[in-house]
Amino acid sequence: MIKELQLRILPEQAAREELLKKVVSRETGEKVESISAIRILKRSIDARQRVVYINLQVRIFINELPSEPEYRSVSYPDVSSGKQVVVVGAGPGGLFAALRLIELGLRPVVIERGKEVHARRKDIALISREHQVNPESNYSFGEGGAGAFSDGKLYTRSKKRGSVEKILSVFCQHGANPSILADAHPHIGTDKLPGVIENIRKQILQSGGEVHFETRMERLLLKEGRVMGVETASGETFSGAVILATGHSARDIYTYLNEEKIPIEAKGIAVGVRLEHPQTLIDQIQYHSEEGRGAYLPAAEYSFVTQVDGRGVYSFCMCPGGFVVPAATAPKQVVVNGMSPANRGSKWANAGMVVEIHPEDFSRFAPSGALALMKLQEELEEHAWLNGGMKQTAPAQRMVDFMQKKNSFDLPSSSYTPGLLASPLHFWLPEFITTRLREGFRRFGQSSRGFLTNEAVLIGVESRTSSPVRILRDRETNQHVTLRGLFPCGEGAGYAGGIVSAAIDGERCAEGAAALYEAAYPL
Ligand SMILES: Cc1cc2nc3c(=O)[nH]c(=O)nc-3n(C[C@H](O)[C@H](O)[C@H](O)COP(=O)(O)OP(=O)(O)OC[C@H]3O[C@@H](n4cnc5c(N)ncnc54)[C@H](O)[C@@H]3O)c2cc1C
Repeated sequence: MIKELQLRILPEQAAREELLKKVVSRETGEKVESISAIRILKRSIDARQRVVYINLQVRIFINELPSEPEYRSVSYPDVSSGKQVVVVGAGPGGLFAALRLIELGLRPVVIERGKEVHARRKDIALISREHQVNPESNYSFGEGGAGAFSDGKLYTRSKKRGSVEKILSVFCQHGANPSILADAHPHIGTDKLPGVIENIRKQILQSGGEVHFETRMERLLLKEGRVMGVETASGETFSGAVILATGHSARDIYTYLNEEKIPIEAKGIAVGVRLEHPQTLIDQIQYHSEEGRGAYLPAAEYSFVTQVDGRGVYSFCMCPGGFVVPAATAPKQVVVNGMSPANRGSKWANAGMVVEIHPEDFSRFAPSGALALMKLQEELEEHAWLNGGMKQTAPAQRMVDFMQKKNSFDLPSSSYTPGLLASPLHFWLPEFITTRLREGFRRFGQSSRGFLTNEAVLIGVESRTSSPVRILRDRETNQHVTLRGLFPCGEGAGYAGGIVSAAIDGERCAEGAAALYEAAYPL
């Protein structure tokens, strides 16, 4: 017999199977010995009150074992003789586009400027150790894209439940823990993501697709307003319709499109700092307990949002039990971001704290047209480098010192391995940002007592929260508005933000390419 139940139980009862079985037995009247298996369908934490509860939706198997799999697998056919589509970029957008192309019988040829995911680790280590940024292989460039060394948070504001579930199932099929299907805020972790990404690549190759690393697209091959393929930096060409999934840090691609007068436009972004607290403090605040999270609760998360003078101020990409990482993609920039391992076990909690910026907010960049906010990002990142000691050391200031416009004489310990340098962020960051951040922090500190503290440190700058450019595309076909055969895709195109939404967009663009080929696209 199979039953489904909703439970509201204590963290220890949810974590220990023998206790969970007792609860289920009490709720259903079934004997503990008859409960053969419990499958968790949904799990969320309710920490609104002093006593923290876990809400579970469970499926109970009584005197029988589960016969259906935990997730639906996709079958990938052999597409070696299928029509070819060029996928530029092996981030979540590009990889999920490639998998969907295979499902639809088309042959993906993926080209990626960076290295395969395991080789990337060495270049990433060099950033922390030697302060060297390889412009082709770093936290944003390389197999797996910007999401490869991240927290691997998989929640999205996308309302399309079916699409989200499909993406999560594909992650499970390639090695992610099926618990991501149940968790309200699922995440994979930076230690587990590379294995999953490698399995996706193996699937593409096994089905007859191609993956080329250290292969940077330089230009599109055009004929009579149609895209026929791409040419790479070494002069090699690949033919087919093109899914352009190059992410929000491919500034050379934006510059190329702008110079070629291929329609793009400036898009709003959000900019600020990464804020790092001791995780124990966040646990105490969020779980309302001096003891912190105890043995059965995960590292606590937070999320804040407010409006100050007409612009959103909010926390972004919070990484409980994580690390602040150096995410620059070129020398002479300092950019920070965050990641966490699967167990979220570090002693720090970090999150971006950012202010929404519209293209008209910084009129001095208006002459750069579609690239206006990309220029703002570049300027901020260069200022962070100059104020951080002209290395990957990041400029930093204690939180209350920032509020009081005071220099920090010393800094707390931090997870940021290249090191921090005390710097008056209140002085050199644009006032548009600092005044709103200060007011945001004041309000967040009021709603969460203990959050506004000098134990926390602001680290500059958090500038790559989304794409500063939108590559204009048609709503129906997902093709570029003027160039047939070009599918601007994922975060870099301005149509997605985050791993899951980039993956969903990748699938959508693959479907667009399939529809184009069905209409006999002349290549
Ligand atoms: C440190 C960090 C942590 C993050 N944490 C999370 C998180 O926990 N959850 C979440 O949802 N999001 C997170 N993000 C954001 C997330 O990674 C992105 O939203 C997502 O990766 C966007 O996917 P994409 O495929 O559109 O682009 P990207 O992932 O940026 O991939 C673009 C790819 O294109 C390649 N490329 C660029 N130019 C060229 C070219 N000319 N030729 C060939 N290849 C090229 C790049 O090397 C890159 O691999 C994080 C980002 C960073 C940097």
